[in-house]
Amino acid sequence: MAGRHFLFVPGPTNVPDRILRAMGAPMEDHRSSAFPALAHECLTGLKSIFKTQSGEPFIFPSSGTGCWEAALTNCLNPGDRVLASNFGQFSYLWIDMCRRLGFEVEALEVEWGEGAPVDRYLAVLEADKAHAIKAALVCQNETATGVTSDVAAIRKALDAARHPALLFVDAVSALASIDFRMDDWRVDVCVSGSQKGLMLPAGLGITCVSQKALEAAKTAKGLRCYFDYGDMLSANASGYFPYTPSLPLLYGLRESLRMLCEEGLENVIARHAYLAAGVRAAIQSGWKLRLCAVEPKWYSATVSAIMVPQGINGADVIARAFKRYNLALGAGLARVAGRLFRIGHLGDCNELMLMAALTGAEMAMVDCGVKVAPGSGAAAAADYWQRNATPRGLSAQ
Ligand code: PLP
Repeated sequence: MAGRHFLFVPGPTNVPDRILRAMGAPMEDHRSSAFPALAHECLTGLKSIFKTQSGEPFIFPSSGTGCWEAALTNCLNPGDRVLASNFGQFSYLWIDMCRRLGFEVEALEVEWGEGAPVDRYLAVLEADKAHAIKAALVCQNETATGVTSDVAAIRKALDAARHPALLFVDAVSALASIDFRMDDWRVDVCVSGSQKGLMLPAGLGITCVSQKALEAAKTAKGLRCYFDYGDMLSANASGYFPYTPSLPLLYGLRESLRMLCEEGLENVIARHAYLAAGVRAAIQSGWKLRLCAVEPKWYSATVSAIMVPQGINGADVIARAFKRYNLALGAGLARVAGRLFRIGHLGDCNELMLMAALTGAEMAMVDCGVKVAPGSGAAAAADYWQRNATPRGLSAQ
């Protein structure tokens, strides 16, 4: 197929040329005296992305899912009780993992399209006078529905209930794109991965662990070996890894962190909010379609899940976009399969890249019989972006 491919799934995201070039390096000895400089730059750089002074970032050769498992097995004891909420496929899968690993889960069922129910977390925590709940889990950005939850409010609920449970946050599709604050929110484990806001290929599980969680890990009897925080901590202290790390991905991570630092993390976050608002203008004002996120307070800055009208299968729109327009859109997962499609607007992205995604999605919808006015999405997005101040990262001046 002539022309370039347009990748607009919410991860993996587009890898900037600068990062691709940085990864194209010959292999070298990961036990050499030169290696720790690379490891230290990556680990130190991650601390600013997690907004932490006291937390320990770890880089596992996995993806986000591996870091979910690491959080549970390092910090908890077999059979421990955890509190979580199910409002999309990824929050559900973490709950499923907890159960499969033998933990007892108090799962708050929430309508998909809403986010973490703070009042219900508070009620459960207040009722748990014996402190049987050892961890509260929350997915900051539910990628399946395009819903962002208020992690700070969950921390406040733990504090209001004077509950000592650890706070585990899934920031897989939030880190380096939506505000996340490890220290301010006293998060105990933040779970993420390389293939979204960090603009890298999949392959690194990126996580950050508080001193309180590391202390818990010293005595926790959860079974783990490859994902042991203690092994990683002692190897990282001298700039090495307990096993052979992926050098190209570490070179890529170093470059990604340099790019984020050059743009400035706050500018990166502002850019995501601005781009997302333009995409929503296309969906809501241009196409007159609904988002899966039911209220503005849940709108995600990294992914928009667009409900297709009754009688239309979202999977047909995605297939048409892929086969005819060389555009990859995100699918509806599990209980929203066929009912929506998703546009990822995270990582290395600007207005005109998103114009391609919006126009391609619109053409595919028209081909599939969705009644949207041709050109209406791009016009509404352009109107939003031209009327609003340009974030620093999108201007050469
Ligand atoms: N959590 C969220 C919110 C995700 O979006 C994903 C993947 O898209 C995961 C967890 C699983 O991460 P991974 O695919 O990197 O294992």
